[in-house]
Amino acid sequence: MAILLGSIADDYTGASDLANTLSKNGLRTIQTVGIPDPGLAMPDVDAVVIAMKIRSVPAGEAVAAARTAENWLRGQGAAHILYKICSTFDSTDAGNIGPVTEALLAGQQAPVLVTPAFPETGRTVYFGHLFVNGQPLDESPLKDHPLNPMYDSDLVRVLGRQTRQAVGLVDLATIRAGADAVRQRMARLVGEGRTMAIADAIAEDDLEVLGEVAADHGLSTGASGLGLGLARALRRRHGTGDGRTGETNTGNRGIGAPVGGHAAIIAGSCSRMTLQQLAAAEKAMPVLRLDPEKLLAGTAEIERALAWAGERLAKGPVAIAASATPEEVASLQARHGRDASGHAIERATSTIAAELVARGVRRLVVAGGETSGAAVDRLAIPAFLIGPEIAPGVPVLRTVGGGHDMLLALKSGNFGGEDFFAQALDAMR
Ligand code: ADP
Repeated sequence: MAILLGSIADDYTGASDLANTLSKNGLRTIQTVGIPDPGLAMPDVDAVVIAMKIRSVPAGEAVAAARTAENWLRGQGAAHILYKICSTFDSTDAGNIGPVTEALLAGQQAPVLVTPAFPETGRTVYFGHLFVNGQPLDESPLKDHPLNPMYDSDLVRVLGRQTRQAVGLVDLATIRAGADAVRQRMARLVGEGRTMAIADAIAEDDLEVLGEVAADHGLSTGASGLGLGLARALRRRHGTGDGRTGETNTGNRGIGAPVGGHAAIIAGSCSRMTLQQLAAAEKAMPVLRLDPEKLLAGTAEIERALAWAGERLAKGPVAIAASATPEEVASLQARHGRDASGHAIERATSTIAAELVARGVRRLVVAGGETSGAAVDRLAIPAFLIGPEIAPGVPVLRTVGGGHDMLLALKSGNFGGEDFFAQALDAMR
């Protein structure tokens, strides 16, 4: 059966966040890790979310990967493709939101709607300015992100620096006037030569209007909020009901039989929320703080972590964290460079994850977008079905194919409340 929606997600936690939203809003969804191998038995689904790691790679590489994924998804019948970006618009002036959107727009009707708004998780856009839990993006903790520090909250400007295309705005008042008003505004933007349109949204109703309009087009760029709008619009067009949560078709929320095995948490996110979650975990389980300097020096720190975990795993969940404060991150980056230190630590945390699985861990929580991507690649997991939601944007995932039957939770840095780790382990029991 042809799929209704295809998505290219620029990182793995973002992919599971979106897959969770689509599933919650009535689309049966599978998340694949990269383009599926022809041998993977694909269940009958409405939506396929291809998880990629193209948020923080050179723009040319991201464009090439996104185009290949687009071809595959269009081949599955996807009439609409959502390029899934971070709800905090994580990117630099070099990309990759602008270059990838520009490439995918070729052959599609302009303008493309672009919005990271996801009010449920505190991401709102007003007059093109992104707010994170009420704070302008450039004053929020995202200003200190290790890979994509966000120093400007005006997304028309941010996106404008990333693309040769002219960027316009669909403001909230227009959205509140309804789908036809948005369509008229978009036609006017095209008349002005603007082929990308940042869209405001501060509430779910705004996303519904945007989803309705986006579904007329072949492409949109946004976070899970736009996914919500699209899922509901597509269900209205192709299925029964209005797609709101709790109706008869609620996607694939079953988690299946317990997987057993040991449980562990790996954290590489340095976000404020992850640091708080680790502090909370310390009260409930053994937590090992890795020495980042030693992680960059060789394998001894990895071996120390595995020896530490070895004797504890049989007794209950353990957590191993590279996470550090913005000051510690800045000091490590000053000595070793931003990308070099980030990627070296991702390699180390993914090696630790793989070694823990080799030692019988079957329930694994990973904190950090890049950190999760590196771990899932290392574990060579081909796809996931979407289980119950642990916190907004973070579902339990069950592996499809691959070596081990496992449950995972991939948490983007800022997601979840203080008790997230305990809640995740509970949901995976
Ligand atoms: P988030 O979801 O919070 O953005 P990510 O995993 O995407 O988390 O990004 C965090 C980055 O910080 C990763 O590249 C990770 O390897 C790196 N990192 C982790 N610990 C440290 C540290 N102590 N010093 C510097 N960088 C670190």
